[in-house]
Parts: sequence; C-alpha cells; structure tokens
Amino acid sequence: MYGAFEADLRELADRGRLRSLRERSGIDFTSNDYLGLAESAELRQAAAEAVGRGVPVGSGGSRLLRGNHPEHEALEAEAAAYFGAETALYFGGGYVANFAIFSTLPQTGDLVVHDELIHASVHEGLRRGRAEFVRVPHNDVDAFDSAIVRWRKAGGKGRAWLSVESLYSMDGDSPNLVELLAVAERHDAMVVIDEAHATGVLGPQGRGLAAAFEGRDNVITLHTCGKALGTVGGFILAPRVVRDFLVNRSRPFIFATAPSPLTAAITRVALEISRSNPERRERLARLVQFAGNELRRQCNIEPSGSHIVPVIIGSDQAAVALASALQRKGYDIRAIRPPTVPEGTARLRIALTLNVDEPTVASLFEALSEDLRKAA
Ligand code: PMP
Repeated sequence: MYGAFEADLRELADRGRLRSLRERSGIDFTSNDYLGLAESAELRQAAAEAVGRGVPVGSGGSRLLRGNHPEHEALEAEAAAYFGAETALYFGGGYVANFAIFSTLPQTGDLVVHDELIHASVHEGLRRGRAEFVRVPHNDVDAFDSAIVRWRKAGGKGRAWLSVESLYSMDGDSPNLVELLAVAERHDAMVVIDEAHATGVLGPQGRGLAAAFEGRDNVITLHTCGKALGTVGGFILAPRVVRDFLVNRSRPFIFATAPSPLTAAITRVALEISRSNPERRERLARLVQFAGNELRRQCNIEPSGSHIVPVIIGSDQAAVALASALQRKGYDIRAIRPPTVPEGTARLRIALTLNVDEPTVASLFEALSEDLRKAA
C-alpha cells in the first residue's frame, strides 16, 4: 500500500537526504530561541499567571465564530503598537501567516517578485494564489526593478509586489531595504517584509529592520513569535483595510481554529519583555561580535555579522559528517541540506542565542576548526 512512499524514502536515503527527528540533546546552537525566552522563568511565570486568571487553553473554534478571545485582541493591539503598524492579525504560526498573505492579497493580473531565497511558506502561498510570480537573484535590488520593468513592457497591468526577508534564515544576511523601498515607490508597488528572524532582535527596541518603514501604506510585515519571542504564532502587520480583507477572504484565517488564548497571553508578556529589555538584545549583539571574531580567528571563515552564522560546506555528505562530529562533542548543530538551501551549498547553520555564553562559543569554534582540518 505504501510502496511509493517507501521508494521515495529509499531514494532520499541513497542521496544522503533522508531526514529524521532527533532527540534534543547537546548545547543549543540550532534553535531560534535567540533571546533565551522559550524556557525562561519570565515566560513560565507568565503562563502560570495566565492560567491563574482563568485564560483558557483552547479557543474552541475559528476567530470568526466563538474562537475569538480578548487575549487575541489585546495581543494584536499591543503588537500593532509595538511594531508601529495600524493593525496586527495573529495566526497560529509564521508559516500559515505567510501562506495567508501570498494566497490572499496579490490579485489576478498582479506580479509578485521574490528573492530566490525566500522562505518555503511564501512559495506555498504563491502557488495557491492568483498572481504571477517571478524569482530574482538573492539581495539583487536592481533585479527587482528590472523584473517589474520587463513585466510592464510585456503588458502587465496589475500591481507589483516585492517579497523579501529582512534577515535570511539560512544565510543571516539582509537586503538593502532603503533601496528596495525606493524601487517600490518608483513602481507604486507593495512590499512584504518577512521579519521572522529579526523580530525582537534587530531594529529599534527589537521591532525589526523594517521598523523605519512600518506604518507606510505600501508595507506589510510578518513577525513571528516562535523565534526570539519564545512562544509560537505569527503576526501580519498591515493597514486596517488589509486586515479586514484577510479576515474576510483568507482561508487559513477563516477555516482554522484560533490559536490558544493561553499562548496569546504569554506572547503579550514576551512582547513586553522584548520592548522593555534592551539588555537581552545588547548581550546577544556582544555574543554575535565575539562569535564573528572567533570564527575568523580560529576557522578563517568570514562571519555573516548576524546571529545566524552559516558555514557553507558544499556537499550534503560532508556537511552531515561535520555536524555529526560536532554533535558527538556535545554541540547541537545541524546540517542544512537542499531543498532548504540551494544545491551544492549544504551547510552548518549556527544560531547564536542567549542559551550559550562566550567560552562555549569559543570552544565550539575550536572544535569546528579541528574538524574542518581533519576533513580537508
Ligand atoms: N519565515 C521565515 C523566514 C522562517 O524562517 C520561518 C520559520 N522557519 C517562517 C517564516 C515560519 O514561521 P513559523 O515557524 O512561525 O511557522
């Protein structure tokens, strides 16, 4: 009955691409818990407090039915204020929020131009959506411009949409948002900025790298709760009309059970910690600086400059072997392989979080340097 599945799995295994779930073990260099909030006393306390005042665990239904809870609405109001947007709409995750944006907002006749490294959830939304879409080379702002020019020349009449991440999840680098926004102005285009890995970490008060542009009519941002904020969920920050349209037209919003009110209550506290605690961000920034220097000094590898540090290896097998060697030494580091990253760019993705300190980072890079030498 499952012959086709078995054959597919065998083929993945033959190509060194079979994935399996591993138990959580070793020192965390792989989670997106950048501010160390996921297991913090503060958020446990927030959970206990919310339970104590009777916030329910389950929402019981769609937001449009009985699932809507005051905790959702309070969270959305606070998120909108924090991120500097007119409104926020809360989803169960960033994946589904991205899916909602791209499957619902761009219309027939529109063109979405997206960076080639954009997250899988955007691809998924685009496939289900109505607009044409085209990919452009990574962080190439001019390519966004020429894609729109080409489309107009070929008779494109609708609206153009630009889709980027403010910090790329597997490369830890950023587009030039000022130039991108200028392209958008020139073409009267919409810009969707996925801040998943910047939320709580980058920009003023951790409001993301698009904070300078938030509140603009043509900018929509996505922030996630499952990374630096330490909970789970995703926000779409947008003008009110966009929120109203999503509430009425977005299938993943309409037909899904609303997120847990308890998680919403805890996320409100996470937002407040993020807003009022520059000290966590400063500690992370110092760790990023330290790690960059160590990576350069010990491994002769140029760091990304952010809390996401890719070490590009190339072949899948070599990346997996290196990750396994580091795991045996007690570091939780994973190899990232295609299709998550382009062919031939399998890598170690080292995530820096407040769950580790400077001596641990230094010892990791010492171990990495040794393993890289052995592999050479
Ligand atoms: N966007 C980006 C850039 C991501 O890295 C992720 C998470 N892998 C998502 C969206 C999806 O967010 P979530 O994990 O909250 O569903």
